[in-house]
Amino acid sequence: MATRAEHFDVVIVGSGFGGSVMAWRLAEAGLRVCVLERGKAYPPGSFARSPHDMRRNFWDPRKGMHGLFNLWSFQGLGGVVSA
Ligand SMILES: Cc1cc2nc3c(=O)[nH]c(=O)nc-3n(C[C@H](O)[C@H](O)[C@H](O)COP(=O)(O)OP(=O)(O)OC[C@H]3O[C@@H](n4cnc5c(N)ncnc54)[C@H](O)[C@@H]3O)c2cc1C
Repeated sequence: MATRAEHFDVVIVGSGFGGSVMAWRLAEAGLRVCVLERGKAYPPGSFARSPHDMRRNFWDPRKGMHGLFNLWSFQGLGGVVSA
């Protein structure tokens, strides 16, 4: 949590593929960029590799889960996205 006022030219929500490329390009162009990311860092080798590891690898903060997979359900459409 930031404790002092900071000023940015751009705020990017999400450090995924699109957000990270955009952040890099804008910073390279000299803009002050802030990236906000809700997910945790995954160092090499830390992804779930078994069904057992997968059981808590979902995004549902109300249940205390902050894993990789976020399931979205809409009428006639479902989606899996990552955090
Ligand atoms: C298991 C898996 C394997 C894949 N393998 C490949 C592959 O081998 N090759 C390939 O080309 N593509 C692969 N993909 C697809 C690729 O990851 C996606 O197409 C790409 O990441 C989409 O980019 P994006 O910027 O749209 O979203 P993302 O990369 O998903 O980025 C979105 C980011 O926003 C963050 N976010 C969301 N909501 C908030 C919020 N409210 N506040 C803050 N942060 C937020 C998320 O945590 C995430 O970091 C794979 C996907 C998955 C799930």
